[in-house]
Amino acid sequence: MSTAAIEITGLKKTYDGGKEALKGVDLTVPAGSVFGLLGPNGAGKSTMINILAGLVVKTAGGVSIWGWDQDRNPRQSRAAIGVMPQELNLDPFFTPRGALEVQAGLYGVPKAQRRSDAILDMVGLSDKAEAYARTLSGGMRRRLLLAKALVHNPQVLVLDEPTAGVDIELRQMLWENVRKLNRERGMTIILTTHYLEEAEEMCDEIAIINHGELVARDSTANLLTQLDAKTMVIEPENDAALPPDNEAITVERRPDGTIAFNYRARETSAEAVLEHVRASGLRIHDVRTEQADLQDVFLSLTRSR
Ligand code: ADP
Ligand code: MG
Repeated sequence: MSTAAIEITGLKKTYDGGKEALKGVDLTVPAGSVFGLLGPNGAGKSTMINILAGLVVKTAGGVSIWGWDQDRNPRQSRAAIGVMPQELNLDPFFTPRGALEVQAGLYGVPKAQRRSDAILDMVGLSDKAEAYARTLSGGMRRRLLLAKALVHNPQVLVLDEPTAGVDIELRQMLWENVRKLNRERGMTIILTTHYLEEAEEMCDEIAIINHGELVARDSTANLLTQLDAKTMVIEPENDAALPPDNEAITVERRPDGTIAFNYRARETSAEAVLEHVRASGLRIHDVRTEQADLQDVFLSLTRSR
């Protein structure tokens, strides 16, 4: 058994009408990780995920899931993955319990091994087990979609924008479940999200996709250090003139009256910045530093090229 949960090579998708949604993506997702797939709207995230789920047919390239090639072993590769789609596509005439039973049947889970009640309990839908899907709120439908993705106990769970537009309570429930499935069952988790702080908090590794191409793939920690831009923000005590830039530091006055000294943490020490401040006659009333976050990495990598 290899240690890759997902192996994607040269993956291309051109939709009818000519839209090239994926332009040849290579990506390996390690088993046991919580993996973030990030990218702006239209980048190709859902296309990739729907190909993994078997909902969209790829144009070219290879996909294997838990070591099973999607073309040569379609049944095994499908059984290894559960997908919570972005769209709320539920049959309105099924109850949550009914929907899980149907899903279990589709995946060939024997009656004795079905855990519908436990799964409904986990996602907080026990008291709605017999309610018709059409009477469920948006949040409840999302919970049900997560439950459906889990009925066959897949090794890999994929969540496509699970928290877009959901309330804080549901978001917390989702993340608690995801962490638990990852830690306690070793389930590999792949998620797409627009919320960068979420990716920063949840994901061990991150891939960034833009216009159907992979633009970055690294551990979250490495991506964050890739940008070593730092800013020292000084609240001046006196009304001094704006200090000049030098070769390592650029200076700007902010609308709130503070003065920002931008520098590269690897090349320039905080001490050197403070020296520059003092040399210019500025007295410091207060000082803080700002560091690049994932938002900055993301923007610098996806700025339209
Ligand atoms: P993301 O999930 O990153 O927002 P998508 O994978 O949904 O991106 O879409 C990628 C590109 O493919 C977009 O330009 C989108 O308009 C296009 N696209 C998605 N689905 C279809 C489809 N069924 N037919 C034609 N074009 C599509
Ligand atoms: Mg999408």
